[in-house]
Amino acid sequence: MTQSRPVLSIVAPVYNEEAILPELYRRVAATLDAIGEPWELVLVNDGSYDNSLAIMKELHARDPRVRIVSFSRNFGHQIAITAGTDYAQGDAVVIIDADLQDPPGVIAEMVEKWREGYEVVYAVRKQRKGETWFKLVTAQLFYRLINRITGVDIPLDTGDFRLMDRKVVDALRSMREHHRFMRGLSIWVGFKQTGVEYVREERFAGETKYPLSKMLRFALDGITSFSYLPLQLATYMGFIIAGLSILGIILTVILRLSGSQAFYGQASTLVMVMFLGGIQLISLGIIGEYLGRIYEEVKQRPLYIVKEAIGFDQD
Ligand code: UDP
Ligand code: MG
Repeated sequence: MTQSRPVLSIVAPVYNEEAILPELYRRVAATLDAIGEPWELVLVNDGSYDNSLAIMKELHARDPRVRIVSFSRNFGHQIAITAGTDYAQGDAVVIIDADLQDPPGVIAEMVEKWREGYEVVYAVRKQRKGETWFKLVTAQLFYRLINRITGVDIPLDTGDFRLMDRKVVDALRSMREHHRFMRGLSIWVGFKQTGVEYVREERFAGETKYPLSKMLRFALDGITSFSYLPLQLATYMGFIIAGLSILGIILTVILRLSGSQAFYGQASTLVMVMFLGGIQLISLGIIGEYLGRIYEEVKQRPLYIVKEAIGFDQD
């Protein structure tokens, strides 16, 4: 079946979303058909162990504009997005969560902004439904922190839901770092950016695939990708503690000269040794976080391994 090259590519990472895929397809197709440009829906199967892949193949058989990149195992959300943007052929690429928390209807507004000349159109959550207060509070704190300590200003209340022009996608594709924080990278590349507001819905079905441990790793990736501040903390702490200890020496001499018994004994020594030991171990751990990431990069493994790519052969 010959088909014109798509103008719009929709990329959705999928990890065990069998209950959602048909509805995702239905809503994306409705929105994109109304826009009227040739489009493709690139579904990236991130090692699902439910029926997701079979359902994707059914969708592809029904509509060849549905294309599939299927990984050999689970590589993670950010890597799945990366693969999707690698395979997408459109002049603009939209990244959207498969779980319908990002309503496909918003794509129409994004495309409008793109036609006005914006090269990145990110979606800003003006309301989030069905999230725990814990997630809301930690997300708030995290984005405040990361904007404070890094050079990139990630707009508050944005996720990966965004439209990117081909130029931006190509810039992103040139960056092959392993610990990818896509929402940061897509700001880092620059270009003309704007936002559109939307209400983030509840998950259409199923459960979140982001337990706390994954969220923490994601947050660490975000910080270490864009900031050396944690590494510099050891230096700052060293100066502060060295300064305090000079004051301590002077104070002790004065106390002894004036005959005071203060700070005699083991307890004070023990507390100081443990305090410093703790700080030293934390500092080593921070160095380890960066070192491990350097090690990952040096090995130069591919970011992901594709087992099957379906629907991309026509040019
Ligand atoms: N996802 C993925 N690989 C993973 C975890 C999640 O491809 O290892 C996908 C998932 O299928 C969904 C999107 O990433 O389309 C966002 O995940 P989720 O909705 O579970 O995260 P939350 O919205 O709860 O932060
Ligand atoms: Mg979700």
